[in-house]
Amino acid sequence: MQMPSAVKTIINKLQSKGYSAYAVGGCVRDTIMGNNPSDWDICTSALPEETLKALEKDNIIENGIKHGTVTVRIDNENYEITTFRTDGAYLDNRHPEKVTFVRSLKEDLARRDFTMNAMAYNDTEGLYDEFGGVEDIQNGIIRCVGEPDKRFNEDALRILRALRFSSRLGFEPEEKTAESIHQNAHLLLNISAERILSEITKILMGDNVEKILLHYSDVFCVWIPEIQPMIGLEQRNPHHIYDVWTHTVKAVAAIEKDRVLRLAALFHDFGKPQKFTVDKRGTGHFKGHPELSAVMADTILTRLKSDNKTKIEVMKLIEMHDVRTPPEPKYVRRSVAKIGVDLYPKLLALKRADALAQNPDTIPEKLQYINKLQEIYEEEIEKGAAFSVKALAVNGNDIKNLGITDGKKIGECLKYLYALVIDGELENHKEQLLLKVEEFYQIAK
Ligand code: ATP
Ligand code: MG
Repeated sequence: MQMPSAVKTIINKLQSKGYSAYAVGGCVRDTIMGNNPSDWDICTSALPEETLKALEKDNIIENGIKHGTVTVRIDNENYEITTFRTDGAYLDNRHPEKVTFVRSLKEDLARRDFTMNAMAYNDTEGLYDEFGGVEDIQNGIIRCVGEPDKRFNEDALRILRALRFSSRLGFEPEEKTAESIHQNAHLLLNISAERILSEITKILMGDNVEKILLHYSDVFCVWIPEIQPMIGLEQRNPHHIYDVWTHTVKAVAAIEKDRVLRLAALFHDFGKPQKFTVDKRGTGHFKGHPELSAVMADTILTRLKSDNKTKIEVMKLIEMHDVRTPPEPKYVRRSVAKIGVDLYPKLLALKRADALAQNPDTIPEKLQYINKLQEIYEEEIEKGAAFSVKALAVNGNDIKNLGITDGKKIGECLKYLYALVIDGELENHKEQLLLKVEEFYQIAK
């Protein structure tokens, strides 16, 4: 197994002082799978003070030392060195009462969540794989170390970690682990909202998100019960062949792996159950669902303590996801002006994913339409079209120079010009814009 030289150096230094030390956890898992680890963690029998002493000359960031972690910075990379430990009793489904430092690697590995994450390696002793991690990786299985019920009760966050690894790696939770995930999902209510959102986002970004959202919808319902009425709700509409939840899940899987886009795809149809009506001919409709979905996304993201920027972007995208802009420059410009020039390509991405999750017979026509909107958008950008008052080729000073000094009037003037530019009645050229102002206020030359 190839380790970065910094990791080798740290392990050698600890070993030369008589301690044992290994690369451990995610980096071992990733290397075995042939992937590049995002970071390298090291575990050791040395107590934190002993680690500090052994690494005396290295650049030490002591932050986590109270928790038994020494962080070293080498060549702009941080390496966490953690003393072997066992966790004490868990009282709140998340945090151990106390951690105890131990001198045995095996005990340290036994507290880790899954077999694939409970392996350690160094060059002198090779791979330490007490719990069958390699075999589980080969079989694509996520298996708790020890009794799943006990492990999920200790720390319920592990439920979402299991689904995150499953979504990212395409591994299946082993039967008992899977059963226990369903059994104990309610314990997630004891986990902080921030951690829930962070894990859900990571699950959404996985390649296998479709399977996870379909097979473990009960887990997501714990924090987002709004999902429940979507499951199995047939749409009775020629545009759709899937129930609302299946359609949603397929839209999530079809969209690029961008945080805001995946969240927008997840929430884009949440208002459908409440807006469902059936007409005389038996066809289903969902009038007003985008607006309601946007409000629901806001409520849920607030519950999950999301930052405001994410909330606002997700809401704007959802609100406009079903607007059928005529494919003409004037209307495209209006849409772009409304949602913002940076967000518009994301709106098209959401519309594409939404279309791809609908009746396959209707997809080519819908994609063609969306591509047309994209084309017009790009042409407008190319032409330097203004998509905010600020982007106009004139500013307040230019208007002032025409003799209009009242600040309110200047503001009105700019807004008027902007409306004309968006509607294509004026080009965004300085002379033209100023001429229009003169005409409007009948300023004599
Ligand atoms: P990633 O590639 O996402 O960083 P990782 O496996 O390295 O995956 P980390 O959160 O960095 O995940 O944790 C490092 C290691 O610590 C894990 O591999 C696992 O051995 C252990 N671990 C992390 N969180 C838990 C937990 N909640 N319960 C038990 N062990 C855990
Ligand atoms: Mg890690």
